[in-house]
Amino acid sequence: MKESASRCSECDRTVYPPRAFCPYCGPAIDAVYEVELGSEGVILSYTVSQMPPDGFEPPLVLSLVETSSGASILCHGEESVIDSLEIGLSVRIHKGEDGLFHFTLK
Ligand SMILES: [Zn+2]
Repeated sequence: MKESASRCSECDRTVYPPRAFCPYCGPAIDAVYEVELGSEGVILSYTVSQMPPDGFEPPLVLSLVETSSGASILCHGEESVIDSLEIGLSVRIHKGEDGLFHFTLK
């Protein structure tokens, strides 16, 4: 997966999508550089919604994943992973044709 994130050389935080300046340090610090987002990560948090917003079918499985680059992104999961969901679980991530990030168990 070729997605870029930006990392700040001042505070070392990584954010996605990439920014022109660090959202933590502000525009006065000109210290961001591009890094690869990474296609693996760890689940920081997750939720399963049985009453998702319009456009999504229940159960909606969402996980906040910290990628290997250090950026945190929201990823969709399949119903089949619900019983395995756990904070700290290692996952693979990819961007689907729907333009959203998806995760699968490793
Ligand atoms: Zn910073």
